[in-house]
Amino acid sequence: MKRVLITGAAGFLGSHLCDRFIAEGYHVIGMDNLITGDLKNIEHLFKLENFEFYHHDITKFVNVPGKLDYILHFASPASPIDYLKIPIQTLKVGSLGTHNLLGLARVKGARILIASTSEIYGDPLVHPQTEEYYGNVNTIGPRGVYDEAKRFQESITMAYHTFHGVETRIVRIFNTYGPRMRLNDGRVIPAFIGQALRGEDLTVFGEGNQTRSFCYVDDQVEGIYRLLLSDYHMPVNIGNPDEITILDFAKEIIALTNSDQKIIYKDLPVNDPMQRCPDITKAKNILGWEPKVGRSEGMKLTYEYFKTFSDTDLLKEEH
Ligand code: NAD
Ligand code: UDP
Repeated sequence: MKRVLITGAAGFLGSHLCDRFIAEGYHVIGMDNLITGDLKNIEHLFKLENFEFYHHDITKFVNVPGKLDYILHFASPASPIDYLKIPIQTLKVGSLGTHNLLGLARVKGARILIASTSEIYGDPLVHPQTEEYYGNVNTIGPRGVYDEAKRFQESITMAYHTFHGVETRIVRIFNTYGPRMRLNDGRVIPAFIGQALRGEDLTVFGEGNQTRSFCYVDDQVEGIYRLLLSDYHMPVNIGNPDEITILDFAKEIIALTNSDQKIIYKDLPVNDPMQRCPDITKAKNILGWEPKVGRSEGMKLTYEYFKTFSDTDLLKEEH
């Protein structure tokens, strides 16, 4: 049985990856320090013989007994309000944490895939973003702690590939959504749906003319799975190129939730990227991958998930 270590296993993407690798017949070893994750996302796996879990901070030395075929490194705060609240941990998990996992991959002879992000393109001057674009990041801006940690993560990963011959994969993930996102993580989809369910007005930042392109989680997981098993070691964008302004998206949520909420405007966060859309030519050509779930279908599934929350959960303020 192939053995895979998944860091960030109790988080949104990590937990879906655990499910996928279990379904594919792997032995899955999850690791997480629960700083932004929740054991509820993986509790259904605890009864399985081919799943084990380590509560561990990966910025400290990492080891697991036995052989490892693959490592998927997904541990990191991922929402702007999370990484603004814990900036040093964000820098450490992207740098020290990644270093530890690359060392582990080297010792075990495992192939490692690291979760990079569209944020490495910063506030992009090239649109849509191709993997060749170097990006436009403010190193000392509030988002720099995340963006630069991820840029360092890519650099050290390439260095381990080049100098130690470690088999590496780099996925640049564009905004992904679906069940198991945290209701209060501040990202736009849980924020808008939570507001609609609570009967509050929807908060659009700036004038709402900034764009994002939202990818449903099942599509993202499929892209990551194919990249891991491919023989391509350069970065690959995985995302859905269906781009929309945040204002139009707020209107779609009002229609989806059948609510009569208004839209109110708040200040645009500093360095909030104005446009974001992946060029997925590489993913199509190299992995034969493209997204299958459209926004209306994906958002319906996501809304169904959030509708199961109790009123107490909806009102819980984390921040
Ligand atoms: P998430 O916050 O739901 O999951 C991250 C998980 O990592 C959490 O369970 C958290 O507890 C864990 N973690 C954080 N620091 C850790 C540490 N030091 N040791 C062990 N565990 C730690 O976020 P997510 O959306 O699932 O993102 C997962 C990964 O994908 C991140 O690396 C993120 O940068 C990347 N990513 C996500 C998106 C997206 O749209 N969801 C976009 C781009 C990149
Ligand atoms: N956003 C918004 N209202 C909110 C939360 C977010 O208008 O209540 C905007 C945010 O300014 C950004 C976009 O939605 O332009 C996506 O934000 P998110 O935090 O989901 O992700 P990221 O900025 O990392 O793409």
